[in-house]
Amino acid sequence: MTTHKGFTTNILHADRLDKPEHGALHKPIHTSVTYGYEDVQDLVDIFQNKKKGYAYSRQGNPTVSALENKITIMENGLGTIAFSTGMAAISATVMTLIKKGDHILASSYLFGNTRSVFQTFIELGLDITFVDATDIENVKNGITPNTKMVFVETIANPATQIADLAGIGELCEQKGIIYMVDNTMTSPYLFQPVKVKASLIINSLTKYIGGHGNALGGSVTDTGLYNWENYPNIFEGFKKQVKPSVLGLTQIRKKGLRDSGGTLSPEAAHSLAIGAETLALRLERACSNALKLAGFFEAHPFIKKVYYPGVEGHAQHERAKNLFLKFGGLMSIVLADGVDCFAFLNRLKLVVKSSNLGDTRTLAIPVAHTIFNELGPEKRAEMGIPESMIRLSVGIEDIEDLLADFDNAFA
Ligand SMILES: *Cc1c(COP(=O)(O)O)cnc(C)c1O
Repeated sequence: MTTHKGFTTNILHADRLDKPEHGALHKPIHTSVTYGYEDVQDLVDIFQNKKKGYAYSRQGNPTVSALENKITIMENGLGTIAFSTGMAAISATVMTLIKKGDHILASSYLFGNTRSVFQTFIELGLDITFVDATDIENVKNGITPNTKMVFVETIANPATQIADLAGIGELCEQKGIIYMVDNTMTSPYLFQPVKVKASLIINSLTKYIGGHGNALGGSVTDTGLYNWENYPNIFEGFKKQVKPSVLGLTQIRKKGLRDSGGTLSPEAAHSLAIGAETLALRLERACSNALKLAGFFEAHPFIKKVYYPGVEGHAQHERAKNLFLKFGGLMSIVLADGVDCFAFLNRLKLVVKSSNLGDTRTLAIPVAHTIFNELGPEKRAEMGIPESMIRLSVGIEDIEDLLADFDNAFA
């Protein structure tokens, strides 16, 4: 289905255009694990990728498909496969597309759990190296004859570095390398990686797309730009069954999702789809709040440093301005020497001391002690994470209340 209306209109009306039963406005929650057919040939054709349809819910479910369809529209892609979490989407996609002997070049500024699963892959024998991808020269120098994939995030979490997204896209296109972009921090409302020639886009639906901290989910979207026809790791059988453009999607669903078992439940898919309806509204508010808070923190004597792409001093401020609609809802701060980080956090009454990001509520977490604790001080330094950093995921509260809460905590 193609739609050509505005971002939010498309999301709101996507299910209805597919004519759900009884004129429902939402695709219903289908809980059936398996699907039966009058004619066994239909079942066989679905198994052999000759026909679209559902056989066993681990690899596809109508409620989940309705969400996948919305993400495809938001990302302006070719197709999407949903997973139980963002981590499942990342690990299943890498597992199914990369083989021993292949090399992955990844940004050194990565979400901690992505860094963790890449470490696991290294221990299983994959060759993965990390470079500062904010500078294209490092990416050029990091590519080897065996490089099959470059993996970056749009705005890195927590220190908000921004890779040279457009430069890397050019490079990957020239060299025929899969360009995988984790768009979680920006979401397709602020940025569509297809515009910088991404091949595959990851979204943790748990974050901005779902947006309410009430359901986990992840997705991978194929933009349609990568030519899978000559990609060596595609299962031979698929080449006989489907057209070249959907070889990547077929392999990720039929092998990646099947093998990993990281299936999104229809109940979670429904919650995420409802959340997605207000993605643009929530992000407008969160970005506006974040920009005001960044200004407040920059002027505050108790704050040593603010990491936010929206501030003039940010190393990739211009890049962010050129690529993204707004600067996002995530920022990190470092308190001035002598200000007790835990005491400050404990004085916050409204802001929740919590992990997660992209929630409607503002969340704060001390980074080195929690989400990046297992890495140790050396890897943290390599990833540009100071020991005293606090990450804030700015929510959609009224800005006066947020400012008052921080003001009070500093008092
Ligand atoms: C949260 C996050 C993930 C993982 O998503 P989950 O749904 O929590 O598994 C991946 N990448 C980024 C950038 C994230 O913030």
